[in-house]
Parts: sequence; C-alpha cells; structure tokens
Amino acid sequence: RAKMRGRNRSHHFSPDMADALYRKMTLRHHLTLALEAEAFDLYYQPIVDLKSKSLKGFEALIRWHDEELGQVSPAEFIPLAEETGQIVPLGKWIIKTACKQLAKWRKKYGKNFIMSVNLSRAQLQSSLAPTIEAFLQRYQIPPSQLALELTESTMLQDYDEAKQCLDDLASLGLELYLDDFGTGYSSLSQLQDLPISIVKLDQSFVQGEHKGSQAIIEATQAICEKLDLKVVAEGVETEAQLNYLQQCSFDYCQGYYLGRPMPAFEHEDRNFTLLNTVQDLQPATKVSE
Ligand code: C2E
Ligand code: MG
Ligand code: MG
Ligand code: MG
Repeated sequence: RAKMRGRNRSHHFSPDMADALYRKMTLRHHLTLALEAEAFDLYYQPIVDLKSKSLKGFEALIRWHDEELGQVSPAEFIPLAEETGQIVPLGKWIIKTACKQLAKWRKKYGKNFIMSVNLSRAQLQSSLAPTIEAFLQRYQIPPSQLALELTESTMLQDYDEAKQCLDDLASLGLELYLDDFGTGYSSLSQLQDLPISIVKLDQSFVQGEHKGSQAIIEATQAICEKLDLKVVAEGVETEAQLNYLQQCSFDYCQGYYLGRPMPAFEHEDRNFTLLNTVQDLQPATKVSE
C-alpha cells in the first residue's frame, strides 16, 4: 500500500487528479454528442447605455444543459472545446444562432441595438470573415449590428495571424470588443494596433477584488477616453457600483443588477418595449441562469 502510494506520488498522480481526468473524459464524450444534436442554448444579457439610459445591446452567452450531467458552465466546457478543436463548429453554431435571433428582433422591434458574440482564439482563421459575411447576408443583418468579443489572451499566440483576421472582420464593418480587460497580458499598445472600438473592463475591478480597483477603474476610463475607445463595465451587481460608474462617466454597463443572461423570450417585452431608462431595469428579475 505504502509502496503504491509512493509510486503514485512519484508520478504526481493523486485521487483528485483522477477525478479531474474522469470528469474531463466524461465531458468530452457528452460534448461530442451535444454538438451532433446541437443541444445548446444561447442566453442574452443586456448591455445598457448609461448616457442615453437605453439598451445598447445584448451579449450572447452559451448554455449547455446535459441530461446526465446537468447544467455545465461555459467556463468549464469552452476550454475543453478549445482543446479538441470542437470550438470551431460550435462557434459557427453560436454565430449563426445569434444572427438568427438578431434578425428576429430586428424585424419585431426595429431597434438599433448590437448583438455581441464571444470568440475563441481557434476561431480566428482566414475562413471566419467569409463565414460571418455569409450569415449576415442570409439573415439580412447590417454588419454594424454584430460585434465580436475577444479576450486579451486571444492575441498571445501568433499575433500577426490573429491581427490579420481581426482586420478582415473589421473591414466587413463589424465592431470588435476587448473582453475581460485588465486581467490578461495585453499591452496598451494593442489597444491602438488592433481594430477595437470597445473595451470591457473585467468584473473583478467593478467588484473591488483588487487592491486599487477604483484607481484602475478611473484610469481605464481616462485612457480609453483619450484613445477614443468606449468602455463597458462588466459585473455590475449593486446600485452603489452603478452610481460609482456613472460618476466616473462610463459609457456602458452590464451585470446582474441590470439584467441576467436569459433566454430570448424572457427579454422580449421587458427590454424592448418597457425599458427606456436604467430605472426601468430595476429590479432585475431573478431568473436563475
Ligand atoms: P465573458 O464573455 O466575460 O462573460 C461574462 C460572464 O460573466 C458570463 O458568465 C456572465 O453570465 C457573467 N456575468 C454577467 N454579469 C455578471 C455579474 O453581475 N456578476 C457575476 N458574478 N457574473 C456576471 P458565463 O456565461 O458563465 O460565461 C463565462 C465565460 O465563458 C465568458 O466570459 C466567455 O469567456 C465564455 N463564453 C460564454 N459563452 C461563450 C460563447 O458563446 N463562445 C465562447 N467562445 N466563449 C463563451
Ligand atoms: Mg464576453
Ligand atoms: Mg467578460
Ligand atoms: Mg470572462
């Protein structure tokens, strides 16, 4: 026994690691089946324009409810899909579904809001821009109403290739958002070098998790204003946070306080017809994710 444990230890393989590996293999298997069955949903979370007190748009966020595994968080399965390359077909389904929803909402409400979709690094291939262009045509969507969100780490590997793809996307007329700003590895020069129009400040700052969070919030707003970039504050959960961001002249806010990610139908009356001021957003209905 002691010998066994000793040997396991020398291979750095613990029961916890066995559990993690088992979970990963199980998820992989179920993910493959889910992909074949297109067993995913997109939820939509409002982004609010603080200056005009109106709806700026929605961020599409994927949800996966597996019959056996229950609800699996994208924070867990997106990295797996990235490892296996499944993020490419999955990402295509996500973009298509978001475009379809956008087309439906455009017809029904005719409003000028923007739909933003998260992208993974592996999706930044030369075929992406033509794929998106085809969806825009099929669903009759003006490119200015679709945005793509990328994290800073996206740009880590093969910067030139990634930048080429972003330039192609931008020349279609799409907007690009830099997601989770402040937590990754990007240099400030990337803000100028890449065709980014909006920076999304990571929720950990809004929630005061770092030493000097307020200083970072204010500095980010100041830098972005100078560079002619707009800023979205992510993860706004309280009225106090919202008031503070308003004081700091933030352009846009997003968070549970203003609205949770919800299925499309849950937004319909609330966000499009009733919602004209930030006040109307409160209290955000408590719908579980
Ligand atoms: P993200 O793009 O930064 O999305 C924001 C995450 O914060 C979402 O988690 C959202 O539900 C959550 N959130 C929004 N407001 C609040 C708040 O006030 N408080 C707190 N605590 N959380 C808030 P979610 O949906 O679990 O997604 C996690 C991450 O998974 C996303 O981070 C994104 O990186 C990735 N992801 C989600 N959907 C997709 C997708 O369709 N494609 C790709 N490639 N990645 C996705
Ligand atoms: Mg995002
Ligand atoms: Mg984010
Ligand atoms: Mg994130």
